[in-house]
Amino acid sequence: MRLGRDAGGRRQPGNSESRGNSGDSRDSGASPSPAGRTGRARPQVAVVGAGIGGLTLAGALAANGTPYVIHEQTRELSEVGAGVQLSPNAIRPLLRLGLGPALEEHAVRIEAMEVRGWNGRPIARTPLGAECERMFAAPYLTIHRAHLHDALLSLIDRDRLGLGQRLRAAREHPDASGVRLTFDDGTVREADLVVGADGIHSTVRETLRRDEPVYSGLGIYRGLVPAEVLPAESRERLVRLWLGPGGHFVCYPVASGAYLSYAATVPLPSDAPPRESWSRPGDPEELRAVFGGWTGLVADIVAAVESTHQWALHDRPPLRTWSTDRITLLGDAAHPMLPFMAQGANQAIEDAMDLAGCLADAPFEAIPERLARYESLRVPRTAEVQRGSRANAGILHLPDGPAQRRRDAHMAVHAALHDRTALYAHETGRSVVPAPA
Ligand SMILES: Cc1cc2nc3c(=O)[nH]c(=O)nc-3n(C[C@H](O)[C@H](O)[C@H](O)COP(=O)(O)OP(=O)(O)OC[C@H]3O[C@@H](n4cnc5c(N)ncnc54)[C@H](O)[C@@H]3O)c2cc1C
Repeated sequence: MRLGRDAGGRRQPGNSESRGNSGDSRDSGASPSPAGRTGRARPQVAVVGAGIGGLTLAGALAANGTPYVIHEQTRELSEVGAGVQLSPNAIRPLLRLGLGPALEEHAVRIEAMEVRGWNGRPIARTPLGAECERMFAAPYLTIHRAHLHDALLSLIDRDRLGLGQRLRAAREHPDASGVRLTFDDGTVREADLVVGADGIHSTVRETLRRDEPVYSGLGIYRGLVPAEVLPAESRERLVRLWLGPGGHFVCYPVASGAYLSYAATVPLPSDAPPRESWSRPGDPEELRAVFGGWTGLVADIVAAVESTHQWALHDRPPLRTWSTDRITLLGDAAHPMLPFMAQGANQAIEDAMDLAGCLADAPFEAIPERLARYESLRVPRTAEVQRGSRANAGILHLPDGPAQRRRDAHMAVHAALHDRTALYAHETGRSVVPAPA
């Protein structure tokens, strides 16, 4: 299967309505003026955050002709040097948006997922490759986050992306006529509808709920090692997991196999959990102290690490609702999860596609009902993945012994690809760009 444009291609980035530039929405400091009153045919979606979720949403809105603007806090878009796993539930919609060629160029098609013990004993193997494509009409891919980000950026009209626009507050007008956005530089803008795609520390979420991220007690080291300094087996198209007492280690190839992306999870001291920051430098010696004695490739990788990033892992409990009449959330802002099902980005992509589908052709008055529809599609699904990711945190670091042996036996029995059907076969956003007949 080539990763072509499988569904009639995509429209040109952007859409027919031209609305200023640099993410400039309307009305600086003006009174509420919803779409109906200003006579615009379609309400404009203000997306806060240009991460994987926000950009996918903007790309999907562009594809179905819905006006949008993106407000991103960073002045320069950059992604942490690490990989991300993309499963068929997210690949299918990305292909429909026209990202096949970009994925073909940079991503790696994974043949299988292998789980082993810290000493190398085999635990489970899930075949992916052709079987995955046959069962789920899409491959399982790994990709450098920067490559995915660049691919998503190609879907949007850059004039609609405002950089250096850090949202401070979002306030919905009591008569539901719109939302007032206030930015750190004092700018005030009015929006018809606001989507908080602003990550785990979402400012938009703060306007809806008073809750805090929950510290998992775990920290993660992440980074890249050039494949050329590693043994040839590092180039095999595998996602590999090694489980051991007090830690687990994941790696897979990215950048067409030029690098190996690794993520090593360990318990952190509970007294003063650091705020999670994806760019916090970590100490490679700490990594070597935990994993240096593990089997073959793990020891080779940590020996080759020159610099690493380290941060504390947080999530939040699932919400029953995350919208008002004119404000909603997606991705980590709505349902931050621990990375132990490798689904955070995949679920953000699913959210974006479903939300864009719900907003297609929505007149201003219909937005509350469309947001309710979006929630009904997404809340149960993402809550289940959040809970599953949390449950995995409890079983990945068992000491060798009876509980570990029971876990290994369970994993071996449930390694078949059809055990992933609920996750991988889920369809989102078909109405954004229809699937081929
Ligand atoms: C170690 C680790 C490994 C992972 N591996 C995988 C994996 O293999 N597969 C997978 O699917 N997921 C994985 N994830 C999860 C995934 O990376 C996240 O779920 C995903 O990036 C969330 O995307 P997002 O767009 O919701 O948020 P983010 O990517 O966090 O983007 C939020 C954006 O909003 C901007 N922003 C924040 N606040 C403001 C503000 N006030 N004003 C304006 N802009 C703002 C930020 O600058 C950022 O650009 C992993 C996560 C971790 C921690």
